[in-house]
Amino acid sequence: MNVAFLGLGAIGRPMAARLAARFPTTVWNRTAGVADRFAAEARCRVAAGAAEAVRGADVVVTCLSTSADVAELLHGPCRVADALSPGTLFLDCTSGDAATSRRLAADLEVRGVRFADCPVSGGTNGAEAGILTVMVGADDPDVVERARPVLETFAKLIVHVGPVGAGDTVKAINQVLLASNILSLAEALTTMVKAGVSARTGLEVINASSGRSFVSETLIPARVLNGTWPKTFRLALLDKDVGIAVGLARQLHLAVPLLEQVGQLSGEARRELGEEADYLEPIRLSERRVGVVVRG
Ligand code: NDP
Repeated sequence: MNVAFLGLGAIGRPMAARLAARFPTTVWNRTAGVADRFAAEARCRVAAGAAEAVRGADVVVTCLSTSADVAELLHGPCRVADALSPGTLFLDCTSGDAATSRRLAADLEVRGVRFADCPVSGGTNGAEAGILTVMVGADDPDVVERARPVLETFAKLIVHVGPVGAGDTVKAINQVLLASNILSLAEALTTMVKAGVSARTGLEVINASSGRSFVSETLIPARVLNGTWPKTFRLALLDKDVGIAVGLARQLHLAVPLLEQVGQLSGEARRELGEEADYLEPIRLSERRVGVVVRG
């Protein structure tokens, strides 16, 4: 089985590395130097253009910033859609939006290409370890079965969550929960530290109590308390995900004041911190406002 992987960003690289270790893989990235370096290390084929990368591939995996980027790749100047052969499986691991995924699936169906939205969760560490969670939106269970051997190279849990677009929906909902956890911990922990309790001591109790979350148990101890603040996932991408979740609620005419507030605060943090900031950096903003540091 020949696989093409397009989009070697922070999470795309470790996903593609695992894929290339198992299947003959051709990679492409918009910034060519990234793909050249990756291919030299992973000892896989690199294509000069996106259309060339997908020509002859049985499965194409994309991992770009947004669904709009995937649409541009398929139908814009790269004309990737024209280079896909009938029978190809197109797996989009971008955290995208359901409406665009449904449109792309319909465009590709006409060409005999099956599409599934396959957003992932588990971060860059999870991708390196091959233990991501994949939420698959596919109209046909056969598509999921065909996708499984490819997805299994970087995932531990693969769940068919519904028709095309359902993967994007579950991902966006997961992300708005992640963002609300980060933003509320930023305010809560800086309040606690200002009140005189160290973050490490307070978290020891919280993480054995009902206020705990993945952010408090794993991310803050491993990245904030020790002062390392690695950059693994751009806040701009999390804010994009939150926008998808809030947009979904609006489309459904639902009142979601808390999610709207998360969207507003995440947008403000993105504007203040910039496009390259990591998703935990809103904690730094709270630190500055309150005049304390969350470090144990
Ligand atoms: P990065 O910002 O690190 O990389 C984005 C990738 O998309 C780059 O390869 C970039 O190319 C490419 N790209 C962006 N726009 C276009 C375009 N118009 N045409 C072609 N290529 C394009 O993002 P991540 O790798 O972190 O994230 C990728 C996706 O995975 C996002 O949807 C994100 O939300 C999701 N995700 C990320 C996680 C993480 O921990 N990082 C975790 C789970 C999901 P170039 O190099 O040229 O800029």
